[in-house]
Amino acid sequence: MIKFGIRQSFDRIEQIEERFSNISVPVELALPYYWKIYEPIRQHLGQIAQQIKDFHIDVLSIHAVQSSITDDKFRIWGKETADFAKALGTKVIQKQAIKNLEFLNQSCQNGIIFSIETFSGKRRVFTPDEITRFNLPMTLDISHIHDNQKIWELLKGYRDNIVNIHLSAKGNNKHHLPIDNFCKEVIDYLIENKWSGNVILEYLPEFHNQMIADVKFLEYKYT
Ligand SMILES: [Zn+2]
Repeated sequence: MIKFGIRQSFDRIEQIEERFSNISVPVELALPYYWKIYEPIRQHLGQIAQQIKDFHIDVLSIHAVQSSITDDKFRIWGKETADFAKALGTKVIQKQAIKNLEFLNQSCQNGIIFSIETFSGKRRVFTPDEITRFNLPMTLDISHIHDNQKIWELLKGYRDNIVNIHLSAKGNNKHHLPIDNFCKEVIDYLIENKWSGNVILEYLPEFHNQMIADVKFLEYKYT
């Protein structure tokens, strides 16, 4: 079964109420993006999880802080992110890159999956091809891969390891635009193949209203 949601983030604790209290659709909850803004909220994660739970939101996945996972610090914040996910009843944590495989596998045994998002930048630890070579759980971001042929390749050959999909369209020099026909073809393909996982709409801030309307449309059409 596919679950549809939207990406919703916060940078500071004071924003949580405003961003999450009125949400009527499932979400991927994005923790503060950079270490500098993540650090101050770390000791409040338990309280934040409780606050979010009180809003009765269905949290499909957690977007972890953007921080290197190649050093030992990952064991600490990786674990606290996993605990946060567990408190919210979430099974998938999305991460940009991962190398600490031992830790990853231990986490998976606890029923929580760290997945690695597809990016094309050269600075990344793993390219999409490397994610597949190491057989790692994947968050496939449709906007980050410019070559649609590559997307079909991943969907056809690797979909059993894709646990999360970030869905949005790409334009000439912008990405994370409202879904287009290609995005709908992807969903049709997933439905036909009985794929099971989360589809998270990830739009630029100016399309936020459209994002809510689109996720409701997808839910209505496909579930
Ligand atoms: Zn993404």
